[in-house]
Amino acid sequence: MLTTHNLSKTYSSGMLLRQSTHALKDVNLRIGRGETVGLFGESGSGKTTLANLIAGALEPTRGEIFFHGQRVRMPYRGALRRSIQMLYQHPETAFDPCWSLKKSILEPFRLHKIPWTEAQIRELLGQVGLYEEHLSRNLRALSGGELQRAALARVMAMEPELILLDEPTSMLDSISQAQVLSILKRYQQQHGTAYLLISHDKQVIRHLCDRCYILEKGVLTGEERYNHE
Ligand code: ADP
Ligand code: MG
Repeated sequence: MLTTHNLSKTYSSGMLLRQSTHALKDVNLRIGRGETVGLFGESGSGKTTLANLIAGALEPTRGEIFFHGQRVRMPYRGALRRSIQMLYQHPETAFDPCWSLKKSILEPFRLHKIPWTEAQIRELLGQVGLYEEHLSRNLRALSGGELQRAALARVMAMEPELILLDEPTSMLDSISQAQVLSILKRYQQQHGTAYLLISHDKQVIRHLCDRCYILEKGVLTGEERYNHE
């Protein structure tokens, strides 16, 4: 479904002394329809950069991304923009903290001009274990786990084909962590959505993934397969 070909990203920074960081070098990966693929690497290895490139939030320095055999280019529009969604490590960065949960959940519907019903919103909330009473609440009044589940509901509303999960549980306590992982597992069984699960925690990856790429200093150095039988 998605492949990358020699995907590379170099960041330049500094005004006087131009400094270059080679965050990613010639990354070739493949994500099949409905597959759960892990991306494991230490902090600073380039995981978030890779997710941002695939999500169309960053322009690659070199290389290409293909989705269903078609080369994709920034900015993503229309169906493509809905098809690839990202869940961030810090859910608070994905929301306007002054908005109510309802306004936040409805934002993508407005953005993509998708009709919605109250019943649909209730069902969406139900899928992530939130309730109608949460809707009128200010986002500041939600816990970290609730906020990440709200972000997940907003992603699910777009019925994407691929969700990029950038350390989705690393900021959460162990109970919220287990909750989010089980929601992700159940949602995938029902919808067949593909996941790229990014983590520095092998246990989290092993729990959910069929296989996993190992990223070291911007280079894919290996691949592991897991047998869940
Ligand atoms: P990870 O998500 O695995 O922790 P990142 O993709 O965030 O890794 O970062 C990879 C490398 O690129 C790091 O060395 C980081 O400092 C650098 N980097 C990330 N974002 C930027 C940026 N906007 N400008 C300059 N360097 C960056
Ligand atoms: Mg990161």
